[in-house]
Amino acid sequence: MQYLTVLGATGSIGESTLDVVARHPDRFRIFALSGYSQLDKLARQCGQFKPGFVAVADQQSAAILAEPLRALSPATEIVVGQQGLCDVASAPEVDMVMAAIVGAVGLRPTLAAVLAGKKVLLANKESLVMAGGLFMDAVRRAEATLLPIDSEHNAIFQCLPANYGLGQRGGVRKVLLTGSGGPFRSAPLESLSAMTPDQACAHPNWQMGRKISVDSATMMNKGLELIEACWLFDLHPEEIDVVIHPQSVIHSMVEYVDGSILAQLGNPDMRTPIAHAMAWPERVTSGVASLDIIQTARLDFESPDLQRFPCLKLAMEAARRGGSAPAILNAANEVAVAGFLGGRLPFTGIAEVVARVLNRLEITEPDSLEAVQSCDQLARHSAEDVIEQLTGKG
Ligand code: NAD
Ligand code: MG
Repeated sequence: MQYLTVLGATGSIGESTLDVVARHPDRFRIFALSGYSQLDKLARQCGQFKPGFVAVADQQSAAILAEPLRALSPATEIVVGQQGLCDVASAPEVDMVMAAIVGAVGLRPTLAAVLAGKKVLLANKESLVMAGGLFMDAVRRAEATLLPIDSEHNAIFQCLPANYGLGQRGGVRKVLLTGSGGPFRSAPLESLSAMTPDQACAHPNWQMGRKISVDSATMMNKGLELIEACWLFDLHPEEIDVVIHPQSVIHSMVEYVDGSILAQLGNPDMRTPIAHAMAWPERVTSGVASLDIIQTARLDFESPDLQRFPCLKLAMEAARRGGSAPAILNAANEVAVAGFLGGRLPFTGIAEVVARVLNRLEITEPDSLEAVQSCDQLARHSAEDVIEQLTGKG
């Protein structure tokens, strides 16, 4: 029996994870769940999975959750705050941690799981983007097992040779990181500035949380994924080609020196990479239907238009620059996306904010978690400042 903590259980990845867990009661059991705002949903999840612990943001959330929890799962204990998250991520009873909190706030609890040497299923790409060097160091030192949940990285992981890593390249020439191009891939350029949050979140192929959906529309998501792939697979940005593949059937590819390209295909449903990582190195059913390749019929590819997707260009530059550039990019993007979702910033303002913040701040070489977090804070303040300037409220 494998005991699992799901950080971000109420989100899109969290729900898909619980769907896979429910299919295999003989293999997986929930040790702890965490949630932030949807406390009703969290209570229902506790009722179904009867975890030992549930983690919420603060005492106020704990008080709201207490009553439904008494009825649905009286033995579940409530813990609060970042410390509560870190505790349920690192408890000795836990075998596996699904890191599916969105954004930089996911860093500390994910790192707590890594430092405790857990099998860590990483959906929270932002933590690797902001602190990749420290994060990967911690993985090696604690001998944690890090398995990628992001569909592209999970696909790359599946296509890499068994002897890849630790100085061995196993004949890999490069990686082809695919992305659908999002909902605005072929929208007229002049229409982008008026796009609403609901339009940006209407992804053609994937059902996801709102932050990553906006990132997909700007293609910042692919940029964050490029940085994520560099850390996960010890690659230089030049060894990764971003390829637009509108059908989202191929989830990424690995090219070898002999000219072979291996691809991983499947329906766009996150339960496939989740089940893959949960059962690895074995395989279990995920609830995902067979891919009908006859129905799929064709696979298209094109190169990304960096004028349409300035966020992708900014992320590529930050990947090449290294140091604190990715952390600054990530923090500015989080603030800008929240500004867009909150109606304060037009869609095209997101790239504008990120570019200006990157121009304003000095790039440093943060060598501790505290240094990374102060870069993150500085970039957030700077982004708020830029938004006020851009929207004329400064
Ligand atoms: P979501 O918005 O649906 O869920 C986010 C989860 O984080 C929720 O459980 C929420 O309660 C929790 N959360 C939010 N703010 C928090 C805070 N301040 N403190 C503690 N918890 C907080 O997001 P999602 O789509 O499930 O994505 C989660 C992560 O997985 C993101 O990092 C995203 O980039 C990554 N990811 C998602 C997908 C996908 O298909 N949804 C694919 C690849 C990677
Ligand atoms: Mg992805």
